[in-house]
Amino acid sequence: MLTRRHMLYRVTLLGLAVGTVPLLKGCTNAVSACADPALLSVGEAHMRSTLEYVERTPNAAEQCNGCEFFRASAGDCGQCEILNGAVSRQGSCNSWVRRGTGPS
Ligand code: SF4
Repeated sequence: MLTRRHMLYRVTLLGLAVGTVPLLKGCTNAVSACADPALLSVGEAHMRSTLEYVERTPNAAEQCNGCEFFRASAGDCGQCEILNGAVSRQGSCNSWVRRGTGPS
């Protein structure tokens, strides 16, 4: 038998579930890593750390997308010749060099 108390409990749970789904969805869209950190070798992870690579730089003038060492591919990611792996177009690191001004 469904009592009034059980009905209120179920309605409350449903409300929490409906309210939580958009919050979780927002979290998954926050940062999309081009390279899964769990799949990086120790050397690759160390290189990213040493060069202070970030997936999204607050400095729009020095994004990977405009770096000499960035090779574009489909989507929001590309390949970095320095880090030897996938990076975000909006990422950056300490080795950023304006495209067209680097070593030839
Ligand atoms: S060298 Fe740094 S800034 Fe340039 S593409 Fe690689 S990670 Fe991005």
